[in-house]
Amino acid sequence: MNAYAESVLAQLKKRHSTQKEFLQAATEILESLSLVFDKHPEYEKAGILERFVEPERMITFRVTWIDDSGKVQVNTGYRVQYSSCLGPYKGGLRFHPSVNTSIIKFLGLEQILKNSLTGLPIGGAKGGSNFDPKGKSDNEIMRFCQAFMAELYRHIGADLDVPAGDIGVGAREIGYLYGFYKKIKNDTSCTLTGRGLAYGGSLARKEATGYGLVYFTREMLAAAGQSFEGKTVLVSGSGNVAIYAHEKATQLGAKVVAMSDSLGYVYDPDGIDLDLIKQIKEAERKRISEYVKRRPGAVYKAGCSGIWTIPCDIALPCATQNELDEEGAQHLISNGCIAVAEGANMPTTLEAIELLQSHDVMFGPAKAANAGGVATSALEMAQSSQRIYWTFEEVDQRLDTIMCNIFRNCAEAAKEYGHEGNYLIGANIAGFIKVAESMMAFGIV
Ligand code: NDP
Repeated sequence: MNAYAESVLAQLKKRHSTQKEFLQAATEILESLSLVFDKHPEYEKAGILERFVEPERMITFRVTWIDDSGKVQVNTGYRVQYSSCLGPYKGGLRFHPSVNTSIIKFLGLEQILKNSLTGLPIGGAKGGSNFDPKGKSDNEIMRFCQAFMAELYRHIGADLDVPAGDIGVGAREIGYLYGFYKKIKNDTSCTLTGRGLAYGGSLARKEATGYGLVYFTREMLAAAGQSFEGKTVLVSGSGNVAIYAHEKATQLGAKVVAMSDSLGYVYDPDGIDLDLIKQIKEAERKRISEYVKRRPGAVYKAGCSGIWTIPCDIALPCATQNELDEEGAQHLISNGCIAVAEGANMPTTLEAIELLQSHDVMFGPAKAANAGGVATSALEMAQSSQRIYWTFEEVDQRLDTIMCNIFRNCAEAAKEYGHEGNYLIGANIAGFIKVAESMMAFGIV
């Protein structure tokens, strides 16, 4: 690693030794960026890397709400406004008990590069809470969202910071968050994306991350003379990203044979019935184990990591961070998997990535492959500004073009820096250069 990148990483490790997800993301990024600093010594002089890894602003706040039994509950809320170099802060909100500073910072750092890759004018941010929406009533969810927004509203705005959904924050939560924001701030502008179609949302936003993942993967496969047609695919998770990755992969001729949730996975050799998954996970909000009760030919296994033992051609991890480790990667390799593309953020451990790449498995990194969601959020912002709605086909077409451009930029950057076919290095470099150039233009701020 270049000495400058190495010294910044060493500092981060010393100062944030307990933030393991953040350090993992920073290590992956800085290893790739090493090549950039060899070529651009002026960045070191301007302290670009030290500034890049330090959030512009980090907000932590108390969220107090009352549950259905009348008991007072307290959670922690977070918003990291990481970089506004390229435009208003933009990034989702995650509600999950595991949320902490490390997870929010890793997601925020990734988001800067992802948003840059979209080619759209958006900076990087992320936020959320350690609140667990599972098992809560609609009223509890609403009270929590209102309490969360009662603090967050001070820090966001259509030209300042525009949050969206992520794990645990879907259409219902966005509705409650936006409804309360609008009421207390007296502002109807596009301050949250992923909004319902009736009140400012964009067609195809719901589908965008999953569809975008498949468009990126289609390009990656095409570069190697391959396609989705006739391929067997594993999709981990059964949330927003996973469902629409399944839908688009199937439309392109693949068969998705397994999906999962946080308790286990289902394997259906006939192909997972997506309508049934939508019914169980979206409409009924039940466990994926329900699937086998209604499809007796399928098998349910407890535990998430076993999904990677199923033979496949293409694996799309779409659940959460570090869900695909070295052992999982080894199974994929042994079973002849040709491509892994990340729908979730950082689902593959550093060791697993290295193993996959050393066995020539094509690897599509999250910041490029799952950028379709935030790209379409930016299209939602554009439509809101113009007071118009585009058709589903128009949005989908723009999404497809954006994903093709992202793939091309990653491929070109990888080649320019001597690592042809390494889309991880390509994504980090292509995303970073624009941010670094903006920082250089702004002077020391
Ligand atoms: P959802 O909340 O809709 O779905 C998450 C899915 O992952 C659920 O099936 C959930 O299972 C499963 N899951 C959660 N935690 C774990 C765990 N520890 N082990 C195994 N499975 C788990 O979230 P999204 O689909 O929106 O997000 C999934 C990933 O995609 C996240 O990494 C997110 O950051 C990323 N992403 C999302 C975007 C979006 O537009 N939504 C954009 C870009 C990235 P269960 O039902 O049991 O909770």
